[in-house]
Amino acid sequence: MFADLHLHTYFSDGTYTPEELVAQAKRHSLVAVALTDHDTVEGCVPTARACAVASIEFIAGTELTAEQAGHEIHILGYGMDLENAQLLTEIAKFQLVRQNRIREMVALLNRLNVPLRVEAVFALANCRAPGRPHVARALVEAGLCDNLDEAFERFLKKNRPAWVPKFKMSAAHAVALLHQAGAVAVMAHPGLNRCDEVIPAMVEAGLDGIECFHTKHSTATAAHYLQIASRFNLVVTGGSDCHGSSKGRPVMGTVKLPYQHVEKLKARGAEIKAAAAPAGSRT
Ligand SMILES: [Zn+2]
Ligand SMILES: [Zn+2]
Repeated sequence: MFADLHLHTYFSDGTYTPEELVAQAKRHSLVAVALTDHDTVEGCVPTARACAVASIEFIAGTELTAEQAGHEIHILGYGMDLENAQLLTEIAKFQLVRQNRIREMVALLNRLNVPLRVEAVFALANCRAPGRPHVARALVEAGLCDNLDEAFERFLKKNRPAWVPKFKMSAAHAVALLHQAGAVAVMAHPGLNRCDEVIPAMVEAGLDGIECFHTKHSTATAAHYLQIASRFNLVVTGGSDCHGSSKGRPVMGTVKLPYQHVEKLKARGAEIKAAAAPAGSRT
């Protein structure tokens, strides 16, 4: 029994609809999936519905963009209350920041005589949390770049002429925000960040888990983070980080997390919910 706990749909920068995502999960015989779109939980309800039809267990999730000691860190949240007011308010603020960043990037492109319209990006993005991949796709669709790689290399990569730095909340804030919504907080793809020195401070801030298995982690990298997980008593997670075809080939199926880790994740979630429950509602 295997799960994939890191997946994106077109509610952030993936290309799959919830139904397409679930059809792929079925094809790979996954018994449980978590949706972790960037800075949104919008896709959770439709994906839960599609999972119910396909008899796949669904875990609500998100991937928050955060910062720790100058490093961009992605924090996965699992099992949150989807109606949590504080989480929804923060997410809405964050989405506005993302939309303004798109406007700034398009303004920079226009100054470079690249006639991209911001409406074209928003129309294509179909979500409230647009990002650079949407700008890249809009550039290709408008015939202004030949492919996504060219769009990133010429304009959108860090320190290229249309790159705009991204606002990020602190990692401690992201962890606290997730906890008060009843969610488990997990550091995403640490092997991509290469800043293990921040892990102790994040554990101190309440981090619950670490994503040991990821498409871009080698076997040695996964083993390294499994060791760190056991040293700090962290929950182990894993997922493909599949974006459909927006970042090259779909990668769902490349990471299969043994289901025992899902059980531990859910047990941790139950502890967090018990701690977050207002006094008097506890038994
Ligand atoms: Zn990420
Ligand atoms: Zn991701």
